[in-house]
Amino acid sequence: MSHRDRIREQRENLPTFEYKHDLIEAIREYSILVIIGETGSGKTTQIPQYILEEMPEMKRIGVTQPRRIAAITVAKRVSEEQDVRLGSNIGYTIRFDDRTSSTTRLKYMTDGILLREATLDPYLTQYSVVVIDEAHERTLETDVLFGLLKETHKLRPDLKILIMSATLDVAKFSDFFDECPIFAIPGRTYPVQVIYPVDAPRINTLKSAFVDRAVEAAWSIHASEPEGDILVFLTGQNDIERACKAFEEKSRKANYKREIKFYEEVQHAVVYPLHASLETFDQKAVFELPRRGDRKVVFATNVAQTSVTIPGIRYVVDSGFVKEKSYDPNTGMDALLVTEISQAAAIQRAGRAGRTAPGKAFRLYNEDSFNQLLPNTIPEIQRSSLLGTVLSLKKLNIVDVLNFAFIDPPEETLVRNALKQLYLLEAIDEEGKITKLGDQMSYFPLSPALARVLISSAEEYKCSYEAVIIVSMLAGDLDLFRTPRIKDGEEEVNRAETCKLKLAHHTGDHMTYLNVWKEWKRNNKSKKWCKENYINAKVLDIAANVREQLMDVMDKLKLKIVHGPVIKRKLKSSSTGKIRTRRMGENDHGESADPVPILESFLTGYFTNIANKGAHRSVFSHYAPDEHLSTESSNNILSTTLVALHLHPLCSLSNNLDRNNLQFSELDWVMYSNITYTNKAVMKGVSKILWDWVKHGKGQERIKLLPSTRLNGEAQPKIEELDLEAENKIIQKENEKKEQEQ
Ligand code: ADP
Ligand code: MG
Repeated sequence: MSHRDRIREQRENLPTFEYKHDLIEAIREYSILVIIGETGSGKTTQIPQYILEEMPEMKRIGVTQPRRIAAITVAKRVSEEQDVRLGSNIGYTIRFDDRTSSTTRLKYMTDGILLREATLDPYLTQYSVVVIDEAHERTLETDVLFGLLKETHKLRPDLKILIMSATLDVAKFSDFFDECPIFAIPGRTYPVQVIYPVDAPRINTLKSAFVDRAVEAAWSIHASEPEGDILVFLTGQNDIERACKAFEEKSRKANYKREIKFYEEVQHAVVYPLHASLETFDQKAVFELPRRGDRKVVFATNVAQTSVTIPGIRYVVDSGFVKEKSYDPNTGMDALLVTEISQAAAIQRAGRAGRTAPGKAFRLYNEDSFNQLLPNTIPEIQRSSLLGTVLSLKKLNIVDVLNFAFIDPPEETLVRNALKQLYLLEAIDEEGKITKLGDQMSYFPLSPALARVLISSAEEYKCSYEAVIIVSMLAGDLDLFRTPRIKDGEEEVNRAETCKLKLAHHTGDHMTYLNVWKEWKRNNKSKKWCKENYINAKVLDIAANVREQLMDVMDKLKLKIVHGPVIKRKLKSSSTGKIRTRRMGENDHGESADPVPILESFLTGYFTNIANKGAHRSVFSHYAPDEHLSTESSNNILSTTLVALHLHPLCSLSNNLDRNNLQFSELDWVMYSNITYTNKAVMKGVSKILWDWVKHGKGQERIKLLPSTRLNGEAQPKIEELDLEAENKIIQKENEKKEQEQ
């Protein structure tokens, strides 16, 4: 059978295929439709293709995915099924990567991208059909899109809106969209036996042990169960890589000793990681069938729960954990936390084992723990800082954010906190209206705080060249330095440490990032250099890409890229006449960037992320300017019930701490980029600052003004009426112009 025939057969075997005709009819008839079906039934890949094939009158179809990796994989798969080049008729757009062209009819994208497009053009003029896929994931972006689409629907009744979801709890979506019809695609799944190992612990004791236990479980399945691939749910890049190594190690040893008698048909395990930071090229193999006699063992994040389907899975190992964004209203901080999953998620995970044949799901926790999990995952909007979201809404002239049509309205406190933070960042004024600065900030694909940094680095501190580099390095969520493991040998560990010390800047991480960037460039961006210096090359590649995009935005906003002032160090000692060695980050003339304006520009975004050193060694306390705001303690974004903060071990200041106590005694105030929680609160992206900078900064002024603003709801000004007709005309004119140009 030819490749094309095989693809056609696969497509025609999917549960959606039988309903192709009915689906098209329903889409023709209704402008809003909710579609539900089991994961793997063909919603994401097939339904948009049906529209493409059967409804030529539909111009562009936009399909959202909550995760970048899903948008890419799905677009690739569909272009293969349609036998077209990716980026032509079918393409994808994710942040920092646009693979579409003017002829693209089917565009997969992250929900964040469509959200941005909707804030720029509420009519979504370029689309005939918009599909909000994986709606059950309830990401913050998806939720806001729901609210916006309700408006768009009023403006453009001809736009087709499809909401696709995997779970059965969809009455909510239908209710939200004025009781629109629900199209249910019956699933075809096999029974899955859920197994709780006899010695399974309570889930709350698993947190530090689930990686090792997951590897054990996967291994015992491999060693004792017949044919079928294994899917293991872990939480992120780090634990997935660790698990892959551990499993491979076991596999090597077992093969060597021949101590286990495998089933005939599964002699050998092939291990695959699946997480967002993989190159797309590494991802492809996961979806291919294993060779005869091989068994695939996939260690994946939540992306494999409902977003992408890996063929052939018959065994699932569920760690019980997921990494998700969480917000602590007491501290005003956002963090990525490893948390327990919900029952709904555990059921979805188990279901992945029964797609093609009866399967087995092994949970690492006991049945009691399962019964005590939350029934459903809490929507992201109810656990995040909302800052970017509120800013987007402000940009749409929705002044009264507190009354926005959220499908599940976020806690009022959180909305108020977001309003306050945006006010402190000067993104909105005391009336709650977006400022020119806020408008500029909304163009950056960054958190409002980082966007604020870039603007002030260009306008006030004149060091945007350096700031853009550092922001680009912070934008990825990966560690820059690689740390060898103890078992790699002490020598290796020491060597890595020495490299890190050499590259470290005495003020901390921000300037260290700049040093690393400069040295990398000096070494022609070579992978070899990265390897030799224990640098994660991926971080620099991502940063280079991000930098390009940020430069474009800066250019569009007419923000100047300027080199900051330099500090000059004589390379020749005046007393001895000896040539000194060049320090990292210096050019050949002994010049290096002056850290002061750079760090000050970062403070314009992060003046609430500061801490000062307590009496204890290496423990910091979070700054809380309570005296100005004591009247509203519980709602106060700056008040802190916490917080003992620690330096991350990879932070360049930690190095100085260990090696040089002198430096530590000079360390008084620090600014940090974010906090992660392990068993304690740990600061990442940390640099020294001076209290003087904070005291005289604009932020301090705004903090004092905060109580006199009208951001507290009662005094909210009325929603400004959008002049829709006028706006419509402008858009029409623009479109006509565009058409003429083509
Ligand atoms: P749903 O959106 O309903 O979960 P999908 O449309 O994502 O379903 O997947 C339908 C089927 O297409 C899956 O069962 C899977 O077998 C197949 N499939 C999806 N992506 C790929 C891929 N990258 N390679 C091979 N098969 C794939
Ligand atoms: Mg899907």
